[in-house]
Amino acid sequence: MARVFDGEFAITIRFGERYRFSFDSPFAWLNGRRHDGVDWAMPVSTPLLPPVPCRVTDVRRYQTGHGLHQRLESLDKQWRFLYAHLSEIRATVGREVSPDTVSALSGGARGMFGAGSSKGPHLHFEMFKRVAGGYAAVDFQQLKKAIVAFAA
Ligand SMILES: [Zn+2]
Repeated sequence: MARVFDGEFAITIRFGERYRFSFDSPFAWLNGRRHDGVDWAMPVSTPLLPPVPCRVTDVRRYQTGHGLHQRLESLDKQWRFLYAHLSEIRATVGREVSPDTVSALSGGARGMFGAGSSKGPHLHFEMFKRVAGGYAAVDFQQLKKAIVAFAA
């Protein structure tokens, strides 16, 4: 089953929405950028899972922006995923992770390690589908069924 965590959490900002108030950045409302992912409000240290079998391709920590973040690529290279504002990395670069592997723990509480510009506990998640010439951001909510079929 395609999921990025167990349980149900409220979406605080959707794919494609203009930033208004957002946990992502106290200044987000100033720039009016489009949101390329989805934010779920969730407690710090919520276990995060890969939607499909993946390899960890990148782990970085910025003081601002995404803070501590992890990038995954599906083993068939059709999908890429980004998890941001993390409090802990459980799978380092190069590791293969299954949908049952906890790859990282969420974070995002203002000022905590890994939060970057986040000002409240949440997960910022982006996903990208392989297209001609690169990868395009897609809406996890809209494509969830497709991924379920893909993962089956
Ligand atoms: Zn976000």
